[in-house]
Amino acid sequence: MTDARRALPAVHALLEHPDVRDLLARAPRGLVTDAVREVLEQARSAPPAGDLDTGTLAERVAGRVQARLLPSLRPVFNATGVVLHTNLGRAPLADDALAAIQEVATGYGNLEYDLATGARGSRYAHCVSLLTELTGAEDALVMNNGAGALVLALAALAHGREAVISRGELIEIGGGFRVPEIMAAAGTTLVEVGTTNRTRLDDYRRAIGPNTGAIVKVHRSNFTMDGFVAEVTAGELAPLAAEVNVPVIEDFGSGLLASLEPFGLRGEPTAREVLSGGASVVIMSGDKLLGGPQAGIILGRGDALSTLRRHPLARAFRVDKLTIAALGATLALYRDRDAAVREVPVLAMLAATPAALRARAEDLRAALATWGIAATVVATEGAVGGGAFPAASLPGWAVAIEGDPGPLEARLRGGDTPVIARVADGRLLVELRAVPAAHDTALADAITTALA
Ligand SMILES: *Cc1c(COP(=O)(O)O)cnc(C)c1O
Repeated sequence: MTDARRALPAVHALLEHPDVRDLLARAPRGLVTDAVREVLEQARSAPPAGDLDTGTLAERVAGRVQARLLPSLRPVFNATGVVLHTNLGRAPLADDALAAIQEVATGYGNLEYDLATGARGSRYAHCVSLLTELTGAEDALVMNNGAGALVLALAALAHGREAVISRGELIEIGGGFRVPEIMAAAGTTLVEVGTTNRTRLDDYRRAIGPNTGAIVKVHRSNFTMDGFVAEVTAGELAPLAAEVNVPVIEDFGSGLLASLEPFGLRGEPTAREVLSGGASVVIMSGDKLLGGPQAGIILGRGDALSTLRRHPLARAFRVDKLTIAALGATLALYRDRDAAVREVPVLAMLAATPAALRARAEDLRAALATWGIAATVVATEGAVGGGAFPAASLPGWAVAIEGDPGPLEARLRGGDTPVIARVADGRLLVELRAVPAAHDTALADAITTALA
């Protein structure tokens, strides 16, 4: 045993160190004792690197306790420029949605209670009228998330039967969501038609028979396919599906409710357009372009949706009251398009003009300069993210902080409120598109605390 190791204090001695004793005012004794034991254990097993005085050990204990007091899920600044960043929680919620959660979560609500009759009601009743009003659907059903909604639709409508899908739509969305596996998990037999790049109506016609349970269409949310390509729309499939009396299930992902063409974003259909295209059941997420909470929204024909509602998996994938509250409040904003663009954060971020982003970037650069942090304002391209408008790039402006981008990125990420920035072309970029404008001062503070 080396001298440095032999010199380690005992557990009770380290607990008596003033810095460690101070910790007991903020953290439970057990947590501090555990940290002391772990630090001593580590010092004993790791090769001694220089002096290990009690002060250094106390500092390590404090670091461990500090880290354990932090909640696991914490707010971060999304300075990546990607608006629907899946790893950073996709859509931030509108103020109205937060207020609705607060109201309904503080006490009780009529979640499954019919106030008119005083009898049991259904949690599925709450968002139906808003969703049908906003999309033209006959009926609507909200589940926990998009993937669950697709499994439910397949299981309820095509279990033990064949689900016909184009080879061009056997895609992976990300996070382990692969369409062929989802179809198998739902108990359907996958029948592939066409080729990767071209599928024709005749391909479907040849594959359809007495064993067909559903025709499935899945949007290519996260990539595009150009060149020698052909696909069949739900509208073209509808007459064929009607002949054999099977539903067309269309998973369109994005949940776009209002066209974003005024902001230069083209090529993604709205929910209303998808529905009028002829699918019997349409599936979308609540926390993508809709800008609401995580949810799987199912729109479509009343008969099909009644079948879904009665299926046991509907109970397994059921939506929570906080989600219903937030989704209802977000949907209500869409009754006034301008209000939606102003107040649904995702829409406001996508609608932000390059001029506005440039002005905010200039302000941030100036704020950093007062702390001696050198930066320049540079033109960049942001992305929608989250599996929507995969080919779109959003012209904007970012603050490029001078210095070695690797260490800078790590220091920003390690701050009290982490700043998740982007490294591109050997520079560290702080993008403002996905930072709510009201957070700009807090962002400047977080950056200066981490770097100055
Ligand atoms: C995002 C997406 C899903 C998954 O939805 P979640 O709400 O993330 O479960 C399924 N299908 C498509 C086409 C998507 O874009």
